Amino acid sequence: MHYQCDECDVEGKTEKDVRKNGCKCRIMPTQFLDPEDHKESKKRKSSKEELKLEVTKIKGKIGQNYVESVIVDDKPHFLCNVDDELKLAEKITDGEIVYRPLGADECGYFPYKYDKTVLIS
Ligand SMILES: [Zn+2]
Repeated sequence: MHYQCDECDVEGKTEKDVRKNGCKCRIMPTQFLDPEDHKESKKRKSSKEELKLEVTKIKGKIGQNYVESVIVDDKPHFLCNVDDELKLAEKITDGEIVYRPLGADECGYFPYKYDKTVLIS
């Protein structure tokens, strides 16, 4: 048995522990009797479609690889450096997160534009 806050997902063995572990919400932590209850309480993971979190990314590291949003053939792609080899991907899945490159119209700055023939020779 344990307690978990529905709002911030902080857990503890007692209600006091939940507060001690960082929960500052006004609602009372919910009491859980067994692991099955606990799983069902995670509403945001209840349906398969919501399982993967979509994140748009301009540039940075995904897993071990450095990526950058570019426009190739007028479509947003990730330009990734995988083991010192350049690769293009329309999306990258890392665990439960799907990363999508930023399109030209969503971007604060305009991404580099390439032609596939220039990139992959
Ligand atoms: Zn809380």
